[in-house]
Amino acid sequence: MTDTRGRLNIDAGEGQWNLSGSIDETSALTELLSRAQHSNLVLDLAGVTFINSLGVRDWIRMQNEATRQGIAIELRRVSEPIIHQLNMIIATRGNSRVASFYAPYACDSCGREESQLIDVAANAVGLANLVAPSITCPECAAQMAFNDFPERYFSFLVPETPRPG
Ligand SMILES: [Zn+2]
Repeated sequence: MTDTRGRLNIDAGEGQWNLSGSIDETSALTELLSRAQHSNLVLDLAGVTFINSLGVRDWIRMQNEATRQGIAIELRRVSEPIIHQLNMIIATRGNSRVASFYAPYACDSCGREESQLIDVAANAVGLANLVAPSITCPECAAQMAFNDFPERYFSFLVPETPRPG
């Protein structure tokens, strides 16, 4: 059964909640915390295509409240629009853990451009060094190139080091 709030759909998955559509001021994300099991909340964000500034505010509220209640949020298959927010606004990260995420790739041989799913644990060493995992083009089997700046796109994975002073 789909729970629809504004332009966001929430569907129950296997031990997780699948979000799709747009996150905005009508999304009421903090309510999702009441769906946590044993203080764990797993959100699949593959279908989230857009988040506006009010949605970002709502998202941060959810993260702050999760921290306050001691709820661990795991984010799976995080879509590119959400990754951009995690990179730009530290507060959107909260204490959540990203298990996997989408990243832009392009194939120089055939011109195919595609968001590719990257598993964080499986690529931990490369990602820690800001090296994009290698992806084979599903179209022509050539090596696809990462289509962003790794030091920018993967920065959400690097823990914030407190500034001196
Ligand atoms: Zn190709």
